[in-house]
Amino acid sequence: MSANDAFLDTLRQIAGPAQVLCGGDLSAYELDWRKRAQGKALAVVRPGSTAEVAAIVKACAAAGVSIVTQGGNTGLVGGSTPDASGRQLVLSLQRMNAVRELDAANLTVTVEAGCILQSLQQAAEKAGFLFPLSLAAEGSCTLGGNLATNAGGTQVLRYGNARDLCLGLEVVSAEGEVWHGLSGLRKDNTGYDLRDLFVGSEGTLGIITAATLKLYPQPAAQLTAWAAVPSMQAAVDLLGLAHRHLGAGLTGFEVMGQFALSLVAKNFKQLRVPFLTQAPAPSGGSAPHAVGSVGAAYCVLLENSDTESESHAREQFERLLETALEQGCVTDAVVAENIAQAHQLWHIRESIPLAQAEEGLNIKHDISIAVSRIPEFVEKTDAILKQALPGVRLVNFGHLGDGNLHYNVQAPADGDAAAFLREHEEAVNALVYDSVARFGGSISAEHGVGSLKLEKLEQHKSPVALGMMRAIKLALDPKNTLNPGRVLRA
Ligand SMILES: Cc1cc2nc3c(=O)[nH]c(=O)nc-3n(C[C@H](O)[C@H](O)[C@H](O)COP(=O)(O)OP(=O)(O)OC[C@H]3O[C@@H](n4cnc5c(N)ncnc54)[C@H](O)[C@@H]3O)c2cc1C
Repeated sequence: MSANDAFLDTLRQIAGPAQVLCGGDLSAYELDWRKRAQGKALAVVRPGSTAEVAAIVKACAAAGVSIVTQGGNTGLVGGSTPDASGRQLVLSLQRMNAVRELDAANLTVTVEAGCILQSLQQAAEKAGFLFPLSLAAEGSCTLGGNLATNAGGTQVLRYGNARDLCLGLEVVSAEGEVWHGLSGLRKDNTGYDLRDLFVGSEGTLGIITAATLKLYPQPAAQLTAWAAVPSMQAAVDLLGLAHRHLGAGLTGFEVMGQFALSLVAKNFKQLRVPFLTQAPAPSGGSAPHAVGSVGAAYCVLLENSDTESESHAREQFERLLETALEQGCVTDAVVAENIAQAHQLWHIRESIPLAQAEEGLNIKHDISIAVSRIPEFVEKTDAILKQALPGVRLVNFGHLGDGNLHYNVQAPADGDAAAFLREHEEAVNALVYDSVARFGGSISAEHGVGSLKLEKLEQHKSPVALGMMRAIKLALDPKNTLNPGRVLRA
């Protein structure tokens, strides 16, 4: 029996023969969501318990096999799929999806890492609570992946990102030991914060097998509005007004450029996009052209969550929007009449990444900049890109309330998208990230580093910070077994 066969046999003994997949079609595990990171796995193993994960990690350490931990495989930075060597094991946590305990008095829930985000939202709602993490991939991403990438999403403004929602973790170390850190404590100053080390470490420091997370009371009412704004500066002015009028009730503030919205209208014809001023381009046709008012360069989606009542939330919204109209930072607005309408508006926003994927290959940037500096950043960077690459299409949308833009670049309408990426991706990235650096921003706001931004991180992070990160990696994973080649180079 070869060493490889012996290793696979050990995995079968640990997880059961049906849970070790090799040969056959493994593309669901080997190809990432953006279809840009295609690897080849030695095998895929799907453990059913923390003890099995620990035993698998020990077997890998003994055999010198590295591990790529995978949740829903919705990550956008090439961190969740194996490399092309055929020597990495994909450890899929999808079977570990139980809600272990909901503690109503402590306002916490403990879940296994493979639990789908939407399933947790539903379990919390059934018990009368809110689990506020929310993102467009929530039907397939997992809590383990959310924590490993410190996911953000649409409610960060009020509830914070995945890190802020996490009180405790259970983690399997690179040596196969289990750290039982599911405390549920809101205060615990007993030395270094291990939990915060693992959150956002993208599977490079340990394998998250379970987490204790914060719950919130359900708001009495949640109202959604859609506003047309003449410029990015107007969107920022509207954000300031919304903070003042709605206070902690402001739970969502998303900005969407007209071109991003026109892609939704083009690729999802059943969706009616309010205040669209660019007609969708015909398939394969030229760039969208203006058909309506030029007064709405962007649209903004706002959410107001109120602890009193729907009528109170509506009054607050109406006062805010009247003031915004008077001040000229809004040119038109609608407030959803019912939940169905609110869902439709959110659905438009959440369809932008899919509409962009339908439009073809593109270059994504997930950046953050101080909110106050975003208008100038957008104006200057748009101009730099348009001058360098005439005809380039800019898909600009994101969580403006958090200073986070998805500032994406699509090839000219009638060009060859694959050729455009081959020829220009490096240059486009350099232009955008240099501009981000000039504005004191971050090259990854919420998606992480993965394999895609490895080099960029080295260019943009300070040597002191990189040195400390390398020391942590070396201390926790000295043999570089966990997700090698992601976040940091060996
Ligand atoms: C349509 C769409 C919209 C999105 N919107 C947002 C958004 O608004 N905000 C946002 O932040 N992200 C967003 N994302 C990115 C993605 O959904 C998140 O990064 C998500 O948190 C990844 O979860 P996952 O279970 O799919 O993880 P995976 O893709 O499987 O893995 C992501 C990373 O985490 C590691 N990992 C996974 N599980 C574990 C574990 N249990 N222990 C240790 N490491 C682990 C993997 O090795 C990999 O490095 C979006 C993605 C899509 C496709």
